Amino acid sequence: MRLFDEHVILRFALLFACFLFAAFIPEIVGFTDNYLNFIPYFAAIVFLAYVSIFYKFPSVGNLKKMRNDVQIPDKISTDHLARDYQKDLLEKDELFQLMVDVSSDGFWTFDVPTGKVYWSNRVAKLLDLSLVEMGDSFAAIKSQVMESDWNIFRKEFARSLNEKVSFTLVLRLIKKVDGENVQISISGRPQCNEEGRPIRVIGSVSSVVDRAALEKQNYFYVYQDALTGVYNRKFFLEKLKVDVDMAAERPDYTFAVALMDIDSFGAINDSYSINFGDNVLRIISDRIKTSCREEDCVARIGPDVFAVILHNIQGINADNDLLSIVRRLHNKVKSPIEVDGRELYMSVSMAVVVNRDVDCVEDILANANAVLRDLKKSGNHGGVQFFAGGIREKAMKLYKLEYDIRRAIQAQEFLLMYQPIVDIDAGNSVVGFEALVRWNNTEQGIVPPAEFIPIAEETGLIVPMGGLILRMACEQAKKWVDMGYKNIRVAVNFSAKQFALDNMVDEVKRVLTETQLNPKNLKLEITEYTAMCEVEKTVEIMRALSSMGLQISIDDFGTGYSSLSYLKHYPVHTLKMDKSFVDHVAEDEEDAAFARMVIGIAKSLHLDIIAEGVENREQLEFLRNEGCHQIQGFYFSKPLTPEDALAYLQEHYLEEPVEELVPAESAAVESA
Ligand code: C2E
Ligand code: CA
Ligand code: CA
Repeated sequence: MRLFDEHVILRFALLFACFLFAAFIPEIVGFTDNYLNFIPYFAAIVFLAYVSIFYKFPSVGNLKKMRNDVQIPDKISTDHLARDYQKDLLEKDELFQLMVDVSSDGFWTFDVPTGKVYWSNRVAKLLDLSLVEMGDSFAAIKSQVMESDWNIFRKEFARSLNEKVSFTLVLRLIKKVDGENVQISISGRPQCNEEGRPIRVIGSVSSVVDRAALEKQNYFYVYQDALTGVYNRKFFLEKLKVDVDMAAERPDYTFAVALMDIDSFGAINDSYSINFGDNVLRIISDRIKTSCREEDCVARIGPDVFAVILHNIQGINADNDLLSIVRRLHNKVKSPIEVDGRELYMSVSMAVVVNRDVDCVEDILANANAVLRDLKKSGNHGGVQFFAGGIREKAMKLYKLEYDIRRAIQAQEFLLMYQPIVDIDAGNSVVGFEALVRWNNTEQGIVPPAEFIPIAEETGLIVPMGGLILRMACEQAKKWVDMGYKNIRVAVNFSAKQFALDNMVDEVKRVLTETQLNPKNLKLEITEYTAMCEVEKTVEIMRALSSMGLQISIDDFGTGYSSLSYLKHYPVHTLKMDKSFVDHVAEDEEDAAFARMVIGIAKSLHLDIIAEGVENREQLEFLRNEGCHQIQGFYFSKPLTPEDALAYLQEHYLEEPVEELVPAESAAVESA
């Protein structure tokens, strides 16, 4: 009991009153012999004395105020009081404090006698305030929530104290995130003393999230592909596992997995825009969904790869059914697409694996991927292929090949052959060579690039390999230049991955400096596809390279996606007409027309044109007549070793092109 407790003072006051009352009784009632007259006064004194000593006074002060007209104090108290109160709380209830600290909810207590509020750190955090700013009243809440919500809170708080009931309210904060009001949930429960009077209100504060929406969102994030709305890889793998398990339990259960890979999707993205590419993916995913049965699982498992699990396809006609589903699916997916007013012809490669052939998730996927890879490698883009035994072995072989290429790069087992490029308007003189890589494999002998370049491209090994090739070609070119063949130009093939390297220009510069080759003796050949990747970056790189004096040639021109409007802005020097157009120029009018068109494009853009793969005289004459005078092909020479190339140079090099020279074709044929 505190010394200056209001109750103690009251008791003393009452006792003092008793004393005064007793002292003045004779004067009040007058002097009389009848002592009975004193009895009521005496009883009153005894009663007062009893009350002053034994009566339990009710609490007074704020409580009364709070109960009749709840005034939630807004004022911020001094810090030390708030801290005292916190300390008090800690001492009183350490466990509670611990809970307060570790909970993700915030806690508060309102002390009825003092009208002070204690806030836990978490509440301050939820409101983006400091503890000091929270103060020891509800002022902070008032200032942070919408006015109408604050009024509801006041009423509920008063009702809670009056009726001694708990309350929970959702209050909208004034602050907004993404244009939406942030909400908090505040609840309180009054605590009463033995007499049932509220002495404290204890409550919590938490941020409000729409649980249903959150769950939906979580599900969406975890299992769906945000772009297309079909399932994602994670869901696909889980579903596949369920089917695999089911097939293990029920031997008659059959299902199939179809993988669909959009061919050259990167080029679509690059030629149009990412948005355009996204729309294409959405349309394709819709098409797959509508072509499958309701119960089949459609997922996007890679940037441009869709997968379908065709559940439960057993039956008498299982194979026929599967075949018709797969055909329908493939036809639907690859039919022309109209996006943003443009019509696009899609090529989609499809691999199908039936669980009879393989029985675990990893094998199903590995085999489906191997089928896809096989489809692409065999030039069968856009086809459908069912898994058949042996593909896995092929895949294993590919992995071994990758390992071997890595080793070969370190052992420097690659060598270059040089195929002459001849100017038929300058006496069939050699104007340059294309450097073509070969792998001198210890087990297999000389391996052609078609057998390892695609794997090197896919695995990224083309980058270190390409670096070696560039250096070898530059060293060779430098030797020839030093021998006096000053205008010779060596063309080096650059893959898209090499071209996209951030330090590509610096790398080329470094190699040129180290080999001391003049940039004018070097030409880089990039395919149309490479040229169309990341157009802006590519143009920038091309400019940097051209400004060094180096030339750029667009390889396999006519096979890719070149848009002529782009080509106009590219600082390229040469177009190389693909062999496939040269092949039939002499006998096929359509090919001839195409070749004429390519030559026309080069001329109108003031670019050099080289025809490659020229094998016979008819082709050569056609090209000569159409004005294409730079020729590369077996007609003149196959790719040569550096020694043979030097011999060729010695025989066919002209310092200055001489117009009047008679074409020395017979000599060229001999050397071929
Ligand atoms: P490409 O760049 O189109 O090279 C031309 C290919 O056509 C060469 O095949 C060449 O030998 C062949 N060729 C030339 N004239 C004729 C002809 O008259 N008839 C026939 N049938 N073929 C002819 P190769 O050397 O097998 O190279 C194939 C492809 O490998 C190249 O096609 C190129 O894409 C790639 N490649 C070759 N060397 C490299 C390299 O160093 N780096 C990169 N990234 N790719 C390379
Ligand atoms: Ca080439
Ligand atoms: Ca080519």
